[in-house]
Amino acid sequence: MPTQQPPFLLDDFTRSLPGDPERRNYRRQVRGACWSHAEPLQFPKARLLTHTAVLGEQLGLSPAILGEDRFTRVFSGSELLPGSVPHAQCYGGHQFGSWAGQLGDGRAINLGAVLDKEGQQHMLQLKGAGPTPYSRTADGLAVLRSSLREFLCSEAMHHLGVPTTRALSLVASGEEVVRDMFYDGNPQAEPGAIVCRVAPSFLRFGSYELFAARQQPGLLRQLADYTIRRHFPLLAPNPGPLERENYVAWFRTVCERTAELLVHWMRVGFVHGVMNTDNMSILGLTIDYGPYGWLEPYDPLWTPNTTDAEGRRYRFGQQPQVALWNLVQLANALYPLIEETAPLEDSLDHYRHHYEQQWLQMMRGKLGLQQPDPRDSALCEALLECLQLVETDMTLLFRALGDLDSELAVEQLPAALCDCWYQRQPGEAVERQWLDWLQRYQQRLREEDATTDRRGRMRAVNPLYVLRNYLAQQAIDDASAGDLGKLLELQQVLQHPYTEQTGKQHLAAKRPEWARHKAGCSMLSCSS
Ligand code: AMP
Ligand code: MG
Repeated sequence: MPTQQPPFLLDDFTRSLPGDPERRNYRRQVRGACWSHAEPLQFPKARLLTHTAVLGEQLGLSPAILGEDRFTRVFSGSELLPGSVPHAQCYGGHQFGSWAGQLGDGRAINLGAVLDKEGQQHMLQLKGAGPTPYSRTADGLAVLRSSLREFLCSEAMHHLGVPTTRALSLVASGEEVVRDMFYDGNPQAEPGAIVCRVAPSFLRFGSYELFAARQQPGLLRQLADYTIRRHFPLLAPNPGPLERENYVAWFRTVCERTAELLVHWMRVGFVHGVMNTDNMSILGLTIDYGPYGWLEPYDPLWTPNTTDAEGRRYRFGQQPQVALWNLVQLANALYPLIEETAPLEDSLDHYRHHYEQQWLQMMRGKLGLQQPDPRDSALCEALLECLQLVETDMTLLFRALGDLDSELAVEQLPAALCDCWYQRQPGEAVERQWLDWLQRYQQRLREEDATTDRRGRMRAVNPLYVLRNYLAQQAIDDASAGDLGKLLELQQVLQHPYTEQTGKQHLAAKRPEWARHKAGCSMLSCSS
């Protein structure tokens, strides 16, 4: 019998970058280091709730390979795999527009990296496995409701084709965690949980900002060089010290990837909720799933985050501008490496143009248009205007548009479109404006080659199943009561978000009225 090699973790990040010499785990300001040692707590009562089998197999780390008990121990932090140097990263960030100083991994512990079958490195990170030097006044733990949401949504995003960190496992810690969910002085004990997140890197804009703010150009350069060599190798093919041009090309690439990420969010109706610079991945991934939400009625002003209800800084329609603001902060941080503003400004301009161009391309795709036409921009804007005249389910509407027969000139609004409204009769003027738009759209479709499979193309970019806010909440309520059925069903169905699945109509339905103002379904607390 062949002996099985134990999975071995690589300590590339900790080996390549300066670490904090202090090994004791207490809260502090950490200067002169990119990371600190941090051991996970022991959770002897941990229980595996679910995991991502395909990802586990790709990484060689599944319950089938490790055995379920060992898998649970490893991904609750109770057992370290050989080679692991558990650590928390040091970073800062702008929160809601203000510089917040040192933040860091307050409840994330990186275990090390694993190589997949293609030789690509993936960092494994436990979220909620205990405090670190960066935990400030908090406990380093996470509750089941937020962990379940992170687990489901990161995998849902992956299957939607949106760049994201992944989730390998969801483990109940077996311990209680106290949270004041509504910040109203009523703390409650909730079940704790731990998610294992997976990404090539968890570096954030805030990772570079901190060293710039502390005027540590040497550390900034070391971290930038590491990032470029490991994660953007094509930008620096030659050995030797990196030069200004390499940093310029890197920033431009970050701008481009961020633009593309935002276009994806706008395509699927995702609202991140807390786009602080510490929650912006340097790789252009969706990272840090907190009080995020999905548009049900299309509303550019909507944010799910109760903490942001007043200013709505992170509302759906403002996300592309906020990403640009965040890129400006990153540009400021990288300035010491480049010492010239023109190339940085040029990349920021490039973000704007690239976003606009990619957005229009994306919208054409959502409408099934293949040949660019100068009238497309106005056609898209007119549709978005219609969507705001009457509450309209964004996800269902684009599927319904795909099902329309473009040959048939319409004289009245098809029922399939009106069914996407949350209100029965929005009034004659509104219906008139919708019909005008529809006739314009059909005219435009007739000018295109009608023989191509428009419906198929539209179904490939307009999902049918998204993680509706109330569905996630129902899965949380049931899981908290010990029933994992809804969690597992969502996990399964969201693996194929573009494909209609038999018996799953209830996961592709409009939000029920009871969910309109219910906590967790329409508003989310940051307390997690
Ligand atoms: P967020 O915006 O939720 O990603 O978190 C902002 C900062 O707060 C990060 O540095 C987190 O690590 C930290 N943080 C959030 N929740 C906790 C917690 N329960 N314990 C320790 N640190 C936390
Ligand atoms: Mg964060």
